[in-house]
Amino acid sequence: KKFEDLNLSPELLKGLYVEMKFEKPSKIQAISLPMILTPPFKNLVAQAHNGSGKTTCFVLGMLSRIDTKLTAPQALCICPTRELAIQNMEVLLKMGKFTGITSELAIPAETANYIPMNKRAPITAQVVIGTPGTISKLITAKKLSLSFLKILVFDEADHMLAESGFRDDSRKIMKFIVRSSPDCQVLLFSATFSDAVRVFVDQTIKEIFNRDY
Ligand code: AMP
Repeated sequence: KKFEDLNLSPELLKGLYVEMKFEKPSKIQAISLPMILTPPFKNLVAQAHNGSGKTTCFVLGMLSRIDTKLTAPQALCICPTRELAIQNMEVLLKMGKFTGITSELAIPAETANYIPMNKRAPITAQVVIGTPGTISKLITAKKLSLSFLKILVFDEADHMLAESGFRDDSRKIMKFIVRSSPDCQVLLFSATFSDAVRVFVDQTIKEIFNRDY
């Protein structure tokens, strides 16, 4: 299997070959990318360890769904730590270098740079990557619109859902999304399938979206 067979734009192929210096899809990419990238844009729950190449799967998923003419959030990635969010953003910027797609981090600010939620400008970036608490606060404060959301990603779901606060925030975010974008594609990556992940997939995702995986 080649990246050319995956319905990717010339700009993304250039990002993969020139910036990332990838030659061909890894195993998990060859299996999951056709499902992620081609209609009907299937929802996916994937068991993937670090080093398997999962980041490429969801970064390509997000970048390939963006309508570049629309200045509104269309892809959202939820991560358990700010470090992971920053790391995923670095990959997205590199892979998407030739696309012109805009992106923004939604992570807790350093104390020195703190801007109260009600003073913040609404997010217009096309891809948003962040942590559950900040994302859920931005949505509640109406600074992050979900009206045009096409794809939602949970990275390292086992780590995220192990924490009760993040579990509640993730559930809250899902409820907002189903209200404003019921056709949103959902990708969930997890190294292990703990009870918390199983319950989240079975109850929250399936129940709220009422769809199969
Ligand atoms: P990840 O599991 O997404 O953190 O990726 C692990 C490492 O594999 C990263 O350093 C990636 O840059 C690299 N990688 C991912 N996909 C490929 C690929 N198709 N070809 C070569 N290296 C890759």
